[in-house]
Amino acid sequence: MEKLAIEGGRPACPPGTIPPWPIFDHREEEGLSRVLRSRVWWRVPGKEVDAFEAEFAAFHDARRALAVTNGTQAIELSLAALGVGRGDEVIVPAFTFASTATAVLAVGALAVPVDVDPDTYCIDLRAVRRAITPRTRAILPVHLAGHPCDMQALSEIAAQHDLHLIGDAAHAHGVRWAGESITRLAKISIFSFQSGKLMTAGEGGAVVYDDESLAERLWVLHSCGRPRADRSYRHVATGTNLRVTELQGAILRAQLARLPDQLAEREEAAPRLDALLGSIGGLRMAKRDPRVSRHGHYMYMIELDELRSDIDRDALVDALVAEGVPAFRSYMAIPDFPAFAEGSGSPEVREAMNRQPVPVSRRFAARSLWLHHAVLLGGAEVQRSVAAAFDKVLRRMGRASKTAR
Ligand SMILES: *Cc1c(COP(=O)(O)O)cnc(C)c1O
Repeated sequence: MEKLAIEGGRPACPPGTIPPWPIFDHREEEGLSRVLRSRVWWRVPGKEVDAFEAEFAAFHDARRALAVTNGTQAIELSLAALGVGRGDEVIVPAFTFASTATAVLAVGALAVPVDVDPDTYCIDLRAVRRAITPRTRAILPVHLAGHPCDMQALSEIAAQHDLHLIGDAAHAHGVRWAGESITRLAKISIFSFQSGKLMTAGEGGAVVYDDESLAERLWVLHSCGRPRADRSYRHVATGTNLRVTELQGAILRAQLARLPDQLAEREEAAPRLDALLGSIGGLRMAKRDPRVSRHGHYMYMIELDELRSDIDRDALVDALVAEGVPAFRSYMAIPDFPAFAEGSGSPEVREAMNRQPVPVSRRFAARSLWLHHAVLLGGAEVQRSVAAAFDKVLRRMGRASKTAR
């Protein structure tokens, strides 16, 4: 049997196998050079960020977009603009990146994590309904790994209880549910352009929305409380500074132009990888709801099933990384972060954090892993190499653990 790369063997996916990320070409280079030479690097008098916002909104069939410094602050800004704060509760999934919950705490509200669906990793609708209290003001679902949440059902729940529906679309640029952009039924959707995301300027974020009445408030809050045309330092609110630069605007325009083809390529590659990994056995890939019109495939989610109970997830990820596969351990369940665990955080925050049972999220935290979306680019040979690495590592680890007993 072939020696694992982690034991000094030859890697199954040597450097050059998986396409590099981020991707850029002459379009980013020309954009950067155009902005540098213009000497307009600040967005307020500039045109690049304005153009990007119009293009990004149109891409989502939305009226408006506002670019901001990052996805975390895009959530904080959305909550602040909608008046969510102290004394309010916001329902979030327990399986997500930390910011979904910490942004809620940052505006002074309480985050109430609820469990996720065992097939799609998206927020569980029954759990959302159970978690609603008189203090609930918003639902903040995450289109996890690029699989859209059931926006129809969520918007009905939100309307019934007079709650804001804010979509965390940090994984879901261009994603569509039942024929519609996921932004359509949310009051505001937030995006991230951090370097690992489906499009990037290194850092960055955006809010996308249809309600024109929010436009002025979002602008002012993101620009030090100052209206766009102000020349008299007449600050009308206490905002902060979340503005992006024209350099980011130029990069994001180039990244957005490339995105539709990349989304299509990943949609084609994902079933291929499903079939290859499915034939290995013991790997439970995330399922796709038949109502998904376009999946983002930000993270390729895999759970180790009962057949693989002898495999240590962390050791598997380490072995895959050594083979050259961009594999990652899943998020911890939100209530289990050291920041909120027993003895830290305020009792009020802790109570809300631990109010709902989250067994599926905890199972994923312990037994699931994910692959970077670059494994779905570069053609069928890339997916075959990734599957070969899994096959190699699982044969060896399964056997090693059996002989050790
Ligand atoms: C990345 C991410 C964020 C935060 O975005 P940043 O740009 O990194 O601040 C929020 N929510 C989810 C689900 C994310 O993955």
